[in-house]
Amino acid sequence: MALSSAVEAKPAPEPIAFIDLKAQQARIRGELERAMMRVLDHGGYIMGPEVKALEAELAAHCGCSDVISCSSGTDALLMIMMAQGIGPGDAVICPAFTFTATPEVIPLLGATPVFADVRRDTFNIDVDRLEDALGAARDAGLKPKALVAVDLFGQAAEYDKISAFAAEHGLWVLADAAQGFGASIGSQRVGTFGLATATSFFPAKPLGCYGDGGAIFTDDAGLAERLRSIRVHGKGNGKYDNVRIGVNGRLDTVQAAVLLEKLKIFTDEVERRNAIAARYTEALEKKPGLVVPRVLEGYTSVWAQYTLRIESGQRDAFAHDLKEQGVPTAIYYPKPVHQQVAYDNFPAARNGLPAATALSDEVISLPMHPYLTPETQDRIISAVTSAVRG
Ligand SMILES: *Cc1c(COP(=O)(O)O)cnc(C)c1O
Repeated sequence: MALSSAVEAKPAPEPIAFIDLKAQQARIRGELERAMMRVLDHGGYIMGPEVKALEAELAAHCGCSDVISCSSGTDALLMIMMAQGIGPGDAVICPAFTFTATPEVIPLLGATPVFADVRRDTFNIDVDRLEDALGAARDAGLKPKALVAVDLFGQAAEYDKISAFAAEHGLWVLADAAQGFGASIGSQRVGTFGLATATSFFPAKPLGCYGDGGAIFTDDAGLAERLRSIRVHGKGNGKYDNVRIGVNGRLDTVQAAVLLEKLKIFTDEVERRNAIAARYTEALEKKPGLVVPRVLEGYTSVWAQYTLRIESGQRDAFAHDLKEQGVPTAIYYPKPVHQQVAYDNFPAARNGLPAATALSDEVISLPMHPYLTPETQDRIISAVTSAVRG
């Protein structure tokens, strides 16, 4: 008997994509090609007909009156703050556990971010700790103006309580829904909470284009008008009439064309994400050593990420074990914003930020996208089960 057949190696497991944009592209490749070709044919590369059509579709999707598409999620946040006149001496409260873009736009305008703590179970801003952040803003001699809530990992923040707190203290609310577009609370969709909502179409977000892009949602007609002006260099009646300081913040027509096609399958994709998340949770919620993400009663997440918590001392070994089994993971976020060099001088809530600090040591996200097959889901679940045991 030939020796070689006895020692034949087991084939290495097929690597799993953390986010699989290729599977989505394959599903609608023909439609995408035709949509992009239409833009090449009409040549309206800047603010072409697809931009207007997309804004109308997005408004209809979430049920708000105005949508202003723009160049990125970060620019969406920036433009809203510009339109509201945020500047030096102003405090803007935001969570300490988020992507950098959330606080970044605040000091860019000369204002001061004041960090609030989050809930460890939902990862979102902790309404019971908002008072501590407001206190820190006052301690620093700042004027509290606004509150940014983030729909982290795809679940909406608790906008009813946040809005009540904001109203009580004369603040306006900006919803950072870069990860939350497509989510809802009861029958109310993300895009309709707070004074304005910012979202991102970065390729890896739940609704992504093939480059950078973003959008702003609001029911405030005056704010919408200021935003449309800021988006094009502070234009007034015409392009060469400048009535305020603005930016070049437009969404490319080609990206709008891509998004129009992706929006047609978005509801189905959100349902798929929810089915996968439900499967993960059912299989993993009773595993000792793991805590599954909590979705509040009545909330529907869009599952930008499926994020587990594991004891901090175990996380590296857990990630390593999963990697050996071909299952990629990611840490969002390894450092809370208030501990970043660029932000560690800004005020933190009066009683500190214990949950945000703890989370950065214990979170780990599993592969999540609408095209994970049941077989791949099984592979991920069994790899997690064996890794947490071992
Ligand atoms: C991605 C993201 C942003 C920024 O969006 P870009 O389109 O990349 O500029 C802002 N906030 C949060 C929470 C994000 O995840």
